[in-house]
Amino acid sequence: MLTLKQIITMLHQKGHKVTPQRLAICEILFSYKSHPTADEIYKRVSQKFPTISLSTIYQTLNLLMKLGLIQELGFPNISSRYDANTSPHIHIICPKCGNTQDYEDKKFEELWSKFITKLNFKPIGQRLEIYKYCDKCSKIG
Ligand SMILES: [Zn+2]
Ligand SMILES: [Zn+2]
Repeated sequence: MLTLKQIITMLHQKGHKVTPQRLAICEILFSYKSHPTADEIYKRVSQKFPTISLSTIYQTLNLLMKLGLIQELGFPNISSRYDANTSPHIHIICPKCGNTQDYEDKKFEELWSKFITKLNFKPIGQRLEIYKYCDKCSKIG
């Protein structure tokens, strides 16, 4: 995962402004492995920048995606989540609330990367997902 400093350098190199708002969004994405939704980012950033709009959040997310710095984890009935770790890794996802956690298994990830490189094409994306109700949702039933 890139550091905040590397992100700033990259944005500058590509000719993008690094506003304090953008920086705050990056900070949330790159400093925690929390896979936040746009709403969650909005709630946290607006504590510091009360005038920020949700569309600024989406614009920044789209920019970071275009630069390949984050990946979007989209789901059919729940909000997308955003991940600053763009290398292939396993997610454990609650299908009810979308709670997403990384699951570390280096051996499997190596094996998967080898398998991907053996393909005769370059995939446009890949997802490694395991579904499980989170503690909160399994209590509700
Ligand atoms: Zn859940
Ligand atoms: Zn992840």
